[in-house]
Amino acid sequence: MNSVNIPDKLRLLNSNSEVALELIDFIKERKFSKIALITTTTPNYLITNELEIDLYKYLETCSMPLLKTFQVITPSVSYVNQLQLSDFDLIIGIGGGKVIDTAKYAAHINNIPCVSIPTSISNDGICSPIAVLKEKQNKHVSLGATMPVALLVPLHLIEKSGEESLISGTGDLLSNLSAIEDWKLANKETNEYIDDYAVMISENAALNLFTQVKNYILQNKSRDQFLKDNLKMIIESIALSGIAMEISGTSRPASGAEHLISHSIDELFGGLKPHGIQVAFGMYITTFLRSELGYIPENTFQELRAVLRYLSLPTTLAAIRITKEQLVKAIIHAPQTRAGRYTILNKIKLEEKYIEEILNELFEERLGLNITQIF
Ligand SMILES: [Zn+2]
Repeated sequence: MNSVNIPDKLRLLNSNSEVALELIDFIKERKFSKIALITTTTPNYLITNELEIDLYKYLETCSMPLLKTFQVITPSVSYVNQLQLSDFDLIIGIGGGKVIDTAKYAAHINNIPCVSIPTSISNDGICSPIAVLKEKQNKHVSLGATMPVALLVPLHLIEKSGEESLISGTGDLLSNLSAIEDWKLANKETNEYIDDYAVMISENAALNLFTQVKNYILQNKSRDQFLKDNLKMIIESIALSGIAMEISGTSRPASGAEHLISHSIDELFGGLKPHGIQVAFGMYITTFLRSELGYIPENTFQELRAVLRYLSLPTTLAAIRITKEQLVKAIIHAPQTRAGRYTILNKIKLEEKYIEEILNELFEERLGLNITQIF
């Protein structure tokens, strides 16, 4: 049986000084003294500066300490490969998704533990064993990475990180529901191994969000109110989603056909929206397909549509700035972005005419029921 790494420390914090305190405590306890900070210049320089000062003060008390900050300009596989990290015993990633992925992958190839300090949550990678990094041109690869030993979340910075980024995080989390459907399908059709525990965690993490959105819709509460009241739940659910990937040793609990469609959009058109927003759009399509093919009740699709709309996640071509012709191409190309991943796309004819018909049906407004009929 594979060993499962789960962070020793998970803290949601409210100021830079709280983050510094928890970080130094952890470093002291685990006796780290050679530290590489991986970050970007903006907008995280303030917290990085404060942490550098506090770390410097603490490390003065250690023998032979080392502290160096690496500013990521272009996060990519080749950037990580050229980093000289063999002298360090801990990597700390401070920043958005790309920085955290860079830190987790650098930790993996150098066999050094890492701490994740995410300043935004635009995807589900804040605490997962997978990093998505650019390889060449628009091609992104999913790589094995080190699960962080500690996750310190500065809530005050995430609150300020912008609405689009937070909405993108909710999209990536919701997409677990589509990914799990594909995993179950692959297990049934091809006998692919499925990890029940990972399914349970991933599904419940996404359902926390889904159910809570439904409650807010039924109570007529605004989306802004929802985001304000539920930030902790969203972050904790995203952390659980990462743990599901760690338990199963694959991205399966959080990545199915909806991710393949998003990767395909990235490859063909250079990425039109942040990752979580694109995968939510992918999920809108894959859930419709499942409902059309009779795998799920139509009402499940209607519910998803209401939830996506409430969160301002895309349910129209215009919202993602893609034409129908481009989307047809992206769906046909999608399975090639990850060979061997069996999904709902294996159940349909990947032909222009057929996909076009499906999309015509999906994007014409024949499905407009009111909320009380849906929930
Ligand atoms: Zn994702």
